[in-house]
Amino acid sequence: MVAALPLCDVDFMPTVATVADSYPATAFTCSNQNCSRHYHQAAGYFDYEGSGQAGVITHLLCEADAYPMFLEAVGRTGMKLWICPHCGCGIME
Ligand SMILES: [Zn+2]
Ligand SMILES: [Zn+2]
Repeated sequence: MVAALPLCDVDFMPTVATVADSYPATAFTCSNQNCSRHYHQAAGYFDYEGSGQAGVITHLLCEADAYPMFLEAVGRTGMKLWICPHCGCGIME
């Protein structure tokens, strides 16, 4: 389960939890109205434009369980903290 809200990996805006019929579990939608980025713990980051999902972009996979990691924080120096939604481990990049 995702403990912290992911950030959008494109514009680093916070995401909001979204429940939609087309998702098997909660997805997180970028709070920027002009951004169609979503994060889902099984699918990772992807663009969603209403008719289907497209353009899944690669993200870091957890070394332990291969879940797509989400961006939890971006530091002033551009350092990114990625967290695994499954085991909760983190990677600084
Ligand atoms: Zn965004
Ligand atoms: Zn993990």
